[in-house]
Amino acid sequence: MPNRVLFFFYLLLLLGCSSKETLIWQKGNIHTHTLWSDGDAPPETVVNWYKENNYQFLALSDHNILSEGEKWIPVVDEEDSSKWPPPFSLEKLNKLKKEFGDDWPELRYVGDTLQMRLKTLKELKDYFEVPGKFILIPSEEITDAFEKKPVHINAINIQTLLHPQGGESVLDVMQRNLDAILHQRQETGQPILAHVNHPNFGWGIVAEDLMQLTGDPFFEVYNGHPGVNNWGDDAHPGTDRMWDIILTNRLHTNKNLFYGVATDDSHAYYDFGVGKSNTGRGWVMVKSNALTPSSIVRALEKGDFYSSTGVTIDNIKLSNNNFSIQIQPENDVRFMTQFIGTLKDFDPKATPIVNDEDFPSHVAHVYSQDIGRVLYETSENPANFIIPDDVLYVRAKILSTKKHPNPFSKGDAEMAWVQPVVRPSKKNQ
Ligand SMILES: [Zn+2]
Ligand SMILES: [Zn+2]
Repeated sequence: MPNRVLFFFYLLLLLGCSSKETLIWQKGNIHTHTLWSDGDAPPETVVNWYKENNYQFLALSDHNILSEGEKWIPVVDEEDSSKWPPPFSLEKLNKLKKEFGDDWPELRYVGDTLQMRLKTLKELKDYFEVPGKFILIPSEEITDAFEKKPVHINAINIQTLLHPQGGESVLDVMQRNLDAILHQRQETGQPILAHVNHPNFGWGIVAEDLMQLTGDPFFEVYNGHPGVNNWGDDAHPGTDRMWDIILTNRLHTNKNLFYGVATDDSHAYYDFGVGKSNTGRGWVMVKSNALTPSSIVRALEKGDFYSSTGVTIDNIKLSNNNFSIQIQPENDVRFMTQFIGTLKDFDPKATPIVNDEDFPSHVAHVYSQDIGRVLYETSENPANFIIPDDVLYVRAKILSTKKHPNPFSKGDAEMAWVQPVVRPSKKNQ
């Protein structure tokens, strides 16, 4: 009977579809500040911006605090931009009422001072979350230092507050905080992602420290805060260069890959422009079959994501050593994909890119030109590259001709970073 045949055909098709996982790109920012620490806006204003701008997840990561318990802030009559964060003003309170209704803010007087209670993460989740569409991930920027060198580490999907652990060196401070995160992860059974923030902020963290870390943390290859020196300077490598130095050393010494995220590190929600730490500069696109804190963290940990400041990627595929990246086309925009890596027989003593004298002797050798070479670049889309036998890793960077609408530094064009891969071993093919 043809109808019956058709019915079974459809049934098979349905079964086939439902057993196959649907992976969807989910957009998120995992570094965000609010009035709970040094952001200039209440958390609901911040969350609302990201939700309205088509993000699927957001991590509010204030300094050494979780958005829980009771916190009241003063509301002042006049704007005062001489301090950071500027005190919350009546004008901003009126904006908030306009956005959320007159009854939304909880206010009180203590003596003559008007105060507003900050909404907790629980309240924000109840108001903003939509299953499968938008979630908030509990997070903290563990804010530590060693001898005035800032050491900031984000813990994404943290369950209880972690205090900065301190230590005997920058490396020790990083490792002790990472160990504390790992300990909480083991105790709670919840996946918690650690990423080391803005290494070049205050020139606090060098590649030689990052390469030694255990516990497989990530780092910020891009942070949107204007004060963090993403691109380095004459005496310090930029974060992209640091990434290759770290990857080369880690894989040369049989350690794991090291992933790089892009984040906003947003603080300023009222004034926009170069020099302000605004929303919408850097984000991660995570390929996940579900939208929950643990599914997002697990997908990040598998490397199933890319980092972007504007370029959108439709597909990243690695099969039979063919590394293939399909970029979403845009009118009048040209793209260049660079496949970057280091050969296994790299010469650590090869001519440094810059003069050794500019650098401390213990780091000079890692500036060999052999580290992080552009192995192949193409303007074809999709961009395809057969990973050779003799590389330690390959990562990809997509350059665009489109200028960023609100860049980290003047003139920046949009970019994306695809996570590094190693050539799949023969037995896994
Ligand atoms: Zn920071
Ligand atoms: Zn921050």
